[in-house]
Amino acid sequence: MLKELWEQAEERLAQTMPASTQVWLKNTHFESESDDTITLSFASSYYRDAFKRHCLDQSLNVLEDLTDKDIKINLVISSAPQVNANIEEKKITHLSEKKKAVNETLNKDYTFDNFIVGENNLFACNVAKVISTNPGISFNPCLIYGGVGLGKTHLIQAIGNYIYDHNPKMKVIYVTAETFTNELIQAISTKAGNAKFKNKYRTADVLLIDDIHFIADKESTQEEIFHTFNDLTERNKQIVFTCDRPLTELRGVNERLITRFRKGANVDLQPPQYETRMAIALKKCKDLNFKISQDVLEYICMNIKTNVRDLEGALTTLYSFSELVGREITKEIAAEHIKNFIPTEMIKNTEVTIDQIISQSASYFNVSTFDIRGKSRNKNVSLARHIAMYLSSVLTNLSLTEIGKYFDSKDHTTVSYAINKIKSIEESDESIRKATEAIREKLKK
Ligand code: ADP
Ligand code: MG
Repeated sequence: MLKELWEQAEERLAQTMPASTQVWLKNTHFESESDDTITLSFASSYYRDAFKRHCLDQSLNVLEDLTDKDIKINLVISSAPQVNANIEEKKITHLSEKKKAVNETLNKDYTFDNFIVGENNLFACNVAKVISTNPGISFNPCLIYGGVGLGKTHLIQAIGNYIYDHNPKMKVIYVTAETFTNELIQAISTKAGNAKFKNKYRTADVLLIDDIHFIADKESTQEEIFHTFNDLTERNKQIVFTCDRPLTELRGVNERLITRFRKGANVDLQPPQYETRMAIALKKCKDLNFKISQDVLEYICMNIKTNVRDLEGALTTLYSFSELVGREITKEIAAEHIKNFIPTEMIKNTEVTIDQIISQSASYFNVSTFDIRGKSRNKNVSLARHIAMYLSSVLTNLSLTEIGKYFDSKDHTTVSYAINKIKSIEESDESIRKATEAIREKLKK
């Protein structure tokens, strides 16, 4: 019932909105409804925030016009990306013509050929290639870690695809830690299920587990991974896994498992430098057949520095915009879109110093600035430190390396991890949001 109402609203909105705003409307997906609430889902926070900014008020107004009821709109991020279905479809058919589907756990788009190598990922990529050509021999197990959107899934899948293509007899299994956990929960209810589960993973020649941080505080999963791990490595079977942070920062995981993870190779992925971002952007545009001028592309890559996923998101959006309105993307249009991409709080304020940020964060959490800068692992101190790092990246012009220098032996990886962590929980965690807001408020004064 609300679904029909929303469809009507969409139609009306499409008639009244400028084409540039319609892009955001097109990127919504009707998820579900309850009494008086319509839930719309988005492929990423980028699309959700843009919708919120450009379409939400108008949508509510239209709904109000269409019905007497007070309808609310709830915005969520979907796990299955819906964006630009047309583009994705086009891309998929195009790809499927060229390649045959092989291993169903692997995505054929994630290959070494498609992976742009820069200083930020060179070592990780080389290790991944060595593993691919000689699975189980060196770098076993291997951990690839790095922040969100930096290419962990791409790289671990590239290993899988390479091995699968070159040794089709090898059993290559890619699984996310989340799927592994869910399968385990299903399996343990019956004896047969349990045996089947064990058999599935322990007969792998190459086991690729993505996002291992998911197993924190999940004891049965850790236990199962521990035994699978021992079983496979004893027989020189290759294991690769990814994590969104270095092992030293991984909490809630059994020490004996950490010890296993620590063996072998630990390689990290860093945010790409400008030149790498440019190379990735050029490739992405080529894949999409997106004609965009060099200086506009440079402008985009200068501004979107966070990670590859954001960069791809911006390009895909600009592409769908240009397709929709049939216009070439100018710097002004790009600037307008990028403004949506970078939260206003990211607009740098050079008047705040990192010392002030550290001092205000310390005072808010009631810890000393000495502790914040130091190595204490105390929960409160760590949180204060992470928030100070995050605010430093948001409110000053300092690079991650420069920020790291204000903290004892904190290199840019740790800083990047802290920033991503706070960024990802700021919205959902009330206490974190309160803290950042209060500290910002103090800094304003
Ligand atoms: P993560 O798993 O670390 O969050 P992903 O592997 O999902 O990140 O990468 C996000 C997107 O960026 C994917 O579409 C991926 O193909 C792309 N990507 C990341 N790194 C590179 C790279 N070096 N070259 C080309 N594409 C990349
Ligand atoms: Mg991933």
